[in-house]
Amino acid sequence: MRRNSPSLHTWFRVIAVGLVLVVLLGVSRFVFDEWRQLQRADQALAAVQRLRVALMLAEMVSRERGPTNGVLGASDPARATPEVLAAQAAVRERLGQARTRTDAAVDAFQAALAADGGEAMLPRELRQAQAFRSALQLARAEVDRLAGLPHAQRSAEGIRQVVQGMVDLVPTLSPTISQFANAAQLADPSLSALVWGARLSAELREYAGLQGSLFTPGLTRQQPFSRAELAAIHVVRGRIEALRQLLTLRIGYGESSGRIVQAYVEVERHYFGSAAQLLRSVLAAGEADGRYGLTPAEFAARYVPDMDAIVHLRDVMLDEAALRSVGLRQQSRESLAWMVALTSTMLALVAGMIYLTRRRIILPLSQMARALRAMGEGELAPELPRPRVNDEMAAVIGGIAALQQQSQARAELERERDKLIDSLREQSITDFLTGLPNRRAFFAGADPELARAQRHGFNLVVLLMDVDHFKSVNDSAGHAAGDRALVAVATRLRHTMRQGDLAARLGGEEFVVLLSHCGLEDGRLFAERLREAIAAQVIDLGGAHAPLRLTVSIGLADTQSHGHDLATLLSRADDAMYEAKRAGRNQTMVAAA
Ligand code: GH3
Ligand code: MG
Ligand code: MG
Repeated sequence: MRRNSPSLHTWFRVIAVGLVLVVLLGVSRFVFDEWRQLQRADQALAAVQRLRVALMLAEMVSRERGPTNGVLGASDPARATPEVLAAQAAVRERLGQARTRTDAAVDAFQAALAADGGEAMLPRELRQAQAFRSALQLARAEVDRLAGLPHAQRSAEGIRQVVQGMVDLVPTLSPTISQFANAAQLADPSLSALVWGARLSAELREYAGLQGSLFTPGLTRQQPFSRAELAAIHVVRGRIEALRQLLTLRIGYGESSGRIVQAYVEVERHYFGSAAQLLRSVLAAGEADGRYGLTPAEFAARYVPDMDAIVHLRDVMLDEAALRSVGLRQQSRESLAWMVALTSTMLALVAGMIYLTRRRIILPLSQMARALRAMGEGELAPELPRPRVNDEMAAVIGGIAALQQQSQARAELERERDKLIDSLREQSITDFLTGLPNRRAFFAGADPELARAQRHGFNLVVLLMDVDHFKSVNDSAGHAAGDRALVAVATRLRHTMRQGDLAARLGGEEFVVLLSHCGLEDGRLFAERLREAIAAQVIDLGGAHAPLRLTVSIGLADTQSHGHDLATLLSRADDAMYEAKRAGRNQTMVAAA
């Protein structure tokens, strides 16, 4: 028992749609992932750039503290020598330049915040930037106010406070810096080490600056450090040492590039090398007698350049983070392009496969299945698909067409055979000369009729007729003329006979008729009519032969008198016919009961 299943065509349609959907889904999933990756790389890059701007701002604020200290430590113009006056002017000049750089950094910071959608995107950060700008102005105003006082009125505490005002500015940037660092890491976790390394470097730079500022009051006074100053210095030194440890860990264990390692080696050489040595000697003097042997300006001139290595390390790390984001973006862009190219090729291939399979296999196959089914149901020439190209399907279609032709030829042959069989059957029951049924046909038809007569009780008459002196026709006119004479007698018999009666040529010049539903007297009348008709007939023998008349002798026997056995009836009729011959021929005799 074969299961009922949807057609191949239906399956194909379902599977084709499914295939396209699956491919589309998979593809869009991949493309979406790549797209997200690309976006993340963009976000990471933007965050790294913002982080750089924020860290730069912090740096600039730190740097501004150097000349600020210089200006605050300056002695009164009235008591100063020309050299001191020149140095003071230079410091004031440096402060102006530093403030300009800081202002530019604030502008850049605000611009970076506004760049990505501005107010709507980072309103909190923008507000903070604005607040930072105001705080910076305020702190500077305090510095300027104090610097405007005579030297004697500038107390150490007053200086410490306004400097602290500048110092306190930097930590207010911390939340924003943290946020950018986090955003960069979130977008691309592989940036974590670099982003944190840059932050640590920036913080180190800040504390290094602070440490420098803490040394300035003692140097300005050219006296030993106070206990409070020493305590503050040690706190900052501890913090710097901690930052150094963290940085070493980051750079030592992370997969740091050669550039970063190189930049860190420079930090070790400059800041933790020569600068640290300078600090140690100044600190030793500050803890002892306060004989430093150098002015604050000289200290700053030696100390500040060594901090640049830290800033350089920070920048190298930020550069590397930006570079990595750009690389990632490039990579994402490339794989997105590849993905789009590959998937569109794949889609095109799938579509092509579906199109070809449908057009060249499924549709012809369905059509062939229909044709074969029709052929199976007897249709001789159902329509076959026309092969489009010379492929395997064309071969199959060609094979079926050949089969179709063969079955057409066979059907033709079968028709001819049937005709032949019909004609043979006809011939086997027909007398070839006269066209009357032959002896076999007579016996085949008479037996059932006799059975019917017996069953239904109607009468049958058997009439046997023999041509008189026929041998002499053959002898005088020849066998062919004899045949023509026999045909003429048979024709007369056929014309005289009633419908439903069975007439046949038994052999030679002897004929038989079975008269159905016929009484003996009616049979006799029919026999007489027949005999007279034949006798009256002038037969043209053809050729040079003179026309001829023939007579017949007839014997009759009926079922009522002789029963329903055909052999008996024929025998009785034959007896009667011979009696007619004996009686002089050309007459009818009825078999005696
Ligand atoms: P009768 O019956 O009157 O006693 O004489 P007859 O000459 O007809 O008798 P017989 O039976 O001796 O002769 C029959 C002849 O019919 C013999 C044969 O040559 C001829 N005959 C039989 N069949 C055919 C036939 O098919 N064609 C022809 N031309 N002659 C046939
Ligand atoms: Mg005879
Ligand atoms: Mg005869």
